[in-house]
Amino acid sequence: MKPMKGARAKNNAQPRVIALLNQKGGVGKTTSTANLGAAFAIAGLRTLVVDLDPQSNLSLHFGHEPEPDQPTVRDLFMNPEIAASDLIRQARENLWFIPSDTELALVEGELALQSNMQHILAERLAASMSAFDVILLDCPPSLGVLTVNALTVAHEVVVPTQAQYLALRGLEKLLETVLLVQRALNEHLTVAGVLLCMHESQSGHGKAVVAEMDAYFEKYRGSGLPWQHARVLRPAVRRNIKLAEAPSFGQTIFDYAPTCAGAADYRALADAIRSRWTAQQPPVQVALSEGTAQS
Ligand code: ATP
Ligand code: MG
Repeated sequence: MKPMKGARAKNNAQPRVIALLNQKGGVGKTTSTANLGAAFAIAGLRTLVVDLDPQSNLSLHFGHEPEPDQPTVRDLFMNPEIAASDLIRQARENLWFIPSDTELALVEGELALQSNMQHILAERLAASMSAFDVILLDCPPSLGVLTVNALTVAHEVVVPTQAQYLALRGLEKLLETVLLVQRALNEHLTVAGVLLCMHESQSGHGKAVVAEMDAYFEKYRGSGLPWQHARVLRPAVRRNIKLAEAPSFGQTIFDYAPTCAGAADYRALADAIRSRWTAQQPPVQVALSEGTAQS
């Protein structure tokens, strides 16, 4: 498919770029990227989702089987001859994606040899960004160079997590990384908050951890830190087996079970995130280093 078909019609405003990040594995990053992306697209936003994880699970939600020799996000990092626009595939109306492949795992080592290694994603996406209203970055479960690339291009970080005591410890480590990147590489980076996935609202432990997370973010209001406006995003996404089943049919939750609790939660969450944006300033263009924006 010629991927960017129709995607250039949008005005030149910059999209919101959201990194879905948690260094802990299996917390709901990919499920949230796919289904929030689908919810934004259904609401009429031109949405790009980028798979930055060598496990390459994101494409499964769109029924995309990897083909041998297809260009992937690895080419974005390693192959300047391939334009970013040639990597972007259409998944649904208003919804595009860049697939990953397992060889992306090799990129971390190879990137370490390049002086601009933290900026490559920002530089390579730059020429395509204005075609979209929102870009979601599905990060791998690590705080390595791929994640730093995501944080360098992002305006905001959403942290999918479970309401468990240890999640708070992991959150502090993640915020340290965000602060380092915000200070050194991307002054516009902020933390939107924590997205509770597979949530069990009846659990006493869960309720206590959510209260602790609310109190944690409350402490930082007015601090000037990137998470000074962060909160526990609501609604939480309830545990719902349909969300686990949908990718095995190559479907988002809105294709597979549009009336289930999981679809309702992601739809409401996408609405809540959008209404936060309208209350805020439009996104700023992330500054790029010299000689960039060639895609
Ligand atoms: P990784 O760190 O390995 O990339 P991840 O953070 O991207 O993982 P997912 O792959 O989205 O996590 O989710 C982990 C597992 O939990 C998957 O099998 C997914 O289908 C399932 N899952 C995610 N959200 C829910 C939910 N709300 N209810 C039930 N199952 C869910
Ligand atoms: Mg994942």
